[in-house]
Amino acid sequence: MVRIGGLEAGGTKMVCAVADAKGQIVARETYPTKTPEETLPQLVQFFKEQQIDALGIGSFGPVHLQDDNYGVIGNTPKIPWIGVSLYRVFADELNIPVKITTDVNAAAYAEHQEGAAKGLDSCLYITVGTGIGAGAIMNGNVMQGFSHPEMGHIQVKRNVEDNFEGICPYHKDCLEGMASGPAIEARWGKKGSDLSERADVWSLQSDYLGQALAQYTFMLMPEKIIIGGGVMNQPEIMPKVRQAFLRHLGGYVDIPSVASFIVSPGLKGESGARGAILLGNEAYNE
Ligand code: ADP
Ligand code: ZN
Repeated sequence: MVRIGGLEAGGTKMVCAVADAKGQIVARETYPTKTPEETLPQLVQFFKEQQIDALGIGSFGPVHLQDDNYGVIGNTPKIPWIGVSLYRVFADELNIPVKITTDVNAAAYAEHQEGAAKGLDSCLYITVGTGIGAGAIMNGNVMQGFSHPEMGHIQVKRNVEDNFEGICPYHKDCLEGMASGPAIEARWGKKGSDLSERADVWSLQSDYLGQALAQYTFMLMPEKIIIGGGVMNQPEIMPKVRQAFLRHLGGYVDIPSVASFIVSPGLKGESGARGAILLGNEAYNE
């Protein structure tokens, strides 16, 4: 019986899942993301015990996806992980086919195959959490150039009433620097989950997200945009994001129904792990 492993490698936790030939999850375990020395052996041991035949990985980024450096973690703020080859560790230790992509690419892939964008040719998956990142499916394929896109780092037009300088270590006031979970906390002095009563917080937040979604739409024209991540747990944010998106679109593009164009993940919190398993399946079949 075939057993396919999927690893959603996140900045705070590692979700390991195993699926049978029908895609049913038969085992699952979560480990906190600590140092590579501490965490990787735990993951390897789990997948060894599970006797998997192939592994797919959806990783926090940046992760190199080109030939020589395939699966090597790039310049992440999680310093001990820089230069670690997630691909090599698992391919060597488990001696099975392994494929890797980013966490958001994996999530976009799963939403396209079996979630909110099933049956479409294109979609965008964006996460608004500790960081902001997005993966796109175009003509049924994960969009990728020499590496994966970095859509969380686009520039946004500063709201006239906002003088927050931004927290991206590379660009200060890019989208991630202005609208990630940690940016909300730095701007307002409280976690997003403790700011539910503050309409001004969510109007400003939605303005930046709506702006970004309009830019992505102008460039890619995906058939659907799926937004996940911790910040989207905020009640009331989704309608505000949709409104801001329409405002920034400026009536230039006809969106038939914004409520079905910008949606929550169909696979709830499982998009990343499901995408990793689908990728593992691909690795098995290649
Ligand atoms: P990660 O990005 O590490 O995978 P999440 O997607 O869960 O994790 O995002 C975590 C971020 O989401 C944190 O910055 C947290 O403050 C923020 N967050 C979690 N819940 C809420 C909420 N209800 N409202 C606003 N922000 C939230
Ligand atoms: Zn940035």
